[in-house]
Amino acid sequence: MDFRIEPATPEQRRPKPADESSLGFGRIYSDHMFTMRWTSDGGWGEPTVAPFSNLDLSPASLVLHYGQTIFEGLKAYRNRGRPRTVNLFRAADNAARFNSSAVRLDLPEVDPDVFVGAIEALLELDHEWIPRSHGTSLYVRPTMIATEPYIGLKSTHEALFFIITGPVGAYYPEGFNPVKITVAERYSRAGPGGLGAAKTAANYAASLKAEKEALGRGFTQVLWLDAAEHRYIEEVGSMNILFRIDGTVITPPAGDTILAGITKDSVLKLLASWDIPVAEERLTIDDVLRAQENGTLEEVFGAGTAAVISPVGALEYRGQTHHIANGGTGPLAERLFDELIGIQYGAKPDPFGWIREVAPTGASG
Ligand SMILES: *Cc1c(COP(=O)(O)O)cnc(C)c1O
Repeated sequence: MDFRIEPATPEQRRPKPADESSLGFGRIYSDHMFTMRWTSDGGWGEPTVAPFSNLDLSPASLVLHYGQTIFEGLKAYRNRGRPRTVNLFRAADNAARFNSSAVRLDLPEVDPDVFVGAIEALLELDHEWIPRSHGTSLYVRPTMIATEPYIGLKSTHEALFFIITGPVGAYYPEGFNPVKITVAERYSRAGPGGLGAAKTAANYAASLKAEKEALGRGFTQVLWLDAAEHRYIEEVGSMNILFRIDGTVITPPAGDTILAGITKDSVLKLLASWDIPVAEERLTIDDVLRAQENGTLEEVFGAGTAAVISPVGALEYRGQTHHIANGGTGPLAERLFDELIGIQYGAKPDPFGWIREVAPTGASG
């Protein structure tokens, strides 16, 4: 792919984190970023990889006032057996979802080959930023914003597509840490016909207050119910949610108000290959509590790129806390986690063709 490449000068390079055990998530950025500008008249301009820098943005830019923006999140993993090789997990699916978000937000679509090629170009220049210890990875954040300066509600004629990356720590350095969640009874994340199916800033802005209140009461995530009736289960935090009830894994189908997660799709494909029954159907909070009461609620877990699998140990609803899987991690959540990270790090076979191997030139082990 023909990209303009402006490598960082030695002075522009920043020291890499010395201690991989304290990387955390989202605070450290690699040396380079990708940018590509769009105008309605000229289409996409030159794809460019250049040193990471602040954006030059008019304070009148549409994105800052009306929220016309989308993003993606995926990870690049250093192959465990062959550390010169980097594994991208289902990146083409992130490209496709980015474009469906773009359509919903009336932003321009990006050629999926440019989307994936841009990530590969960043990995080429910044391969030394991909951490080496078990469970760590390089997080990749593609984003698009409406940059046209205009104070007035309209769709943009100018946009910027950019990608930044940064090393992130192991999500569970000391084994699983099951989350305590609480049902959002007053707030909604997404409504029918709204933006819930798109990865766009407004959905996350809508969730912040509920999450802060939950945190203040000792819960780490919010369980979202449908906006119309506050009965049907939708998502947990920014993850999809799955329930194992009497041997069957039940999960509400992606749609208008539920994001089509790539991790959840991978989980469903693995379960099918293991002959574990799956039902993609709506279920209510009452269905879940009934299963808990009669002892058939075996496991609850979230699925998303950041944590991969996030077991739920406790669920609060209307002032009552219910302990699931004895507050620990269920066997299926554990098996799914092991299988997925095994595939992602190249330690297990990849029967579904999810991994794209990238071999940066000059990469050392
Ligand atoms: C990103 C996201 C997910 C998980 O999607 P993955 O592709 O598995 O990372 C689920 N729900 C919401 C609201 C999200 O933003």
